[in-house]
Amino acid sequence: MYIPSTSSLLLLLVSLTISSISTTSEAAAPGPSADFLKCLKPLGSSKVLTAKDTAYQQQRYAFDLRYTYQPSVIIMAKSVADVQTAVKCAAAAKIAVAPRSGGHSFEGYSIGGQDGSMVLDLTAMNSVKVKGDKATVGAGIRLGKLYLDLFNQGGYTINAGTCPSVGIGGHALGGGFGLLSRKYGLLVDRIVEIEMVNAKGEVVKASTSTNPDLFFSLRGAGGGSFGVVTSFTILPFKAATKATSFSYEWKINDYAAVLKAYTAYQSKASRDMGVEMNVGPSGLELYGIFQGTKADQAKALAPFLNAAPKPHQNDVREGRQIDAQLRFAFVEGGKEGDINGLSLKSPFRAGDSHYTKGKSIVYPSALKDSTIALLGKWGAKKPSGSTANYIIVDLWGGAVQDTAVDATSFIHRNAHTVFEFVVEWDQSAKPKPGKADCKDCLKWMNDMYAEFLADYKSAGYGGSLRGYQNYIDAEIPNWQDAYYGSAMTRLKKTKAAVDPTNVFRFPQSIPL
Ligand SMILES: Cc1cc2nc3c(=O)[nH]c(=O)nc-3n(C[C@H](O)[C@H](O)[C@H](O)COP(=O)(O)OP(=O)(O)OC[C@H]3O[C@@H](n4cnc5c(N)ncnc54)[C@H](O)[C@@H]3O)c2cc1C
Repeated sequence: MYIPSTSSLLLLLVSLTISSISTTSEAAAPGPSADFLKCLKPLGSSKVLTAKDTAYQQQRYAFDLRYTYQPSVIIMAKSVADVQTAVKCAAAAKIAVAPRSGGHSFEGYSIGGQDGSMVLDLTAMNSVKVKGDKATVGAGIRLGKLYLDLFNQGGYTINAGTCPSVGIGGHALGGGFGLLSRKYGLLVDRIVEIEMVNAKGEVVKASTSTNPDLFFSLRGAGGGSFGVVTSFTILPFKAATKATSFSYEWKINDYAAVLKAYTAYQSKASRDMGVEMNVGPSGLELYGIFQGTKADQAKALAPFLNAAPKPHQNDVREGRQIDAQLRFAFVEGGKEGDINGLSLKSPFRAGDSHYTKGKSIVYPSALKDSTIALLGKWGAKKPSGSTANYIIVDLWGGAVQDTAVDATSFIHRNAHTVFEFVVEWDQSAKPKPGKADCKDCLKWMNDMYAEFLADYKSAGYGGSLRGYQNYIDAEIPNWQDAYYGSAMTRLKKTKAAVDPTNVFRFPQSIPL
């Protein structure tokens, strides 16, 4: 029987307490003042949603329907000028501003993470213009549409995550890891200029030569803390002519041999190999995209496959990079294999869950046996009420390490492996927001995480605990250090310079 230590019990208690207050009741929050609404009037009534509007009731929920905060107003911005007007009004009214791109924040921070914020929705600002070797991208675009638009404008792509409904705003500003990251780095590493509206409502640009402190801060810690990013200038690229997507499966009982081979493979894997492993009650699944032919993929994966038990299932397909992106986008509706599905325009829709809790740990070196044992133990358990629970074990390394640790505020450059712990419940087609939490799901998550934290300390990984800020977690111990470490001093300096009155604030924003 597992007997938790006093420190893990304490952590669990703190976690459960924060969990229970992190979602809000449905009692009405105070509405916006008359002066605030008067100030917003030039935007036109269709762009300013208050609690009286039907559209407000549709727009006030996060991707994760656990969160039902009540924003003061929701601004459906259509232009940079709209953003400027709205920010000036919120700053004058002392209302917190929460920019929203794809709305996938794990803690509902793009609806404020608290009642009474002004949500600045950027969905309509989703254009992509490729010119020369650069692309200017609106900060409200979702990754699926971004892949599709880049492909349609000259066969380009970009290195980012697989989920088509995630927005570029939060994703890029927190790093952005995907199946091309071992070859091209993080999404943030391909950004050369950022346009942002600051707390005074001014449009500012940031690059290595203009506002370098701001550019440093936005690239890793930029989500919601410094201003509203309105567009990114990125360096897209052409993927290999042939890309091979693949998946292999094992029974959960094989976990020890599979995961030992997997963690040893990290240092041998070619940069053309992007790979992740899911560990859950239904087994282990390795999936990824290789930049090259099926024959070359087989050679490149051989060091792992030869060291692991034989998978009971595999599915390897050679095609275009865009087809591989569609395969792992898990789009529902419409014609199978139609790359337009990435746009998520009707009849296509994202097939992801809406009730979920996530946590993360960043590991600086190959996994120790004790950590692999925990993956097997907790991966095999299925909390009652969950529709899915798994641990994603991402192999990092390669080009992620090419950028110096102090060049951006993304500090996890030395990551060997990153875990994302996920539990989901209620995957009905039209789930209602604000339902009671699945208690057993959260217990699975909290008990498991406490054991992984204890193991992190005792197994000799060294250094402080690190977590990935894109899997933001209100309960991670010492979040400022875990997410931003040595970058915090420069981040606070930037915050004081660009947002001295803390207009851009939420429970885990960079403090003054
Ligand atoms: C289903 C799913 C799959 C995922 N897959 C991956 C993956 O493969 N790789 C990976 O690295 N991450 C992944 N993530 C994590 C994802 O990158 C983060 O949740 C990210 O923050 C989401 O960005 P968003 O714009 O959709 O979210 P939002 O909720 O809109 O924003 C997140 C945060 O950024 C801020 N923000 C958003 N837009 C702006 C802006 N324009 N200016 C300033 N601040 C802004 C918000 O205020 C909020 O604090 C995944 C998440 C989910 C839910």
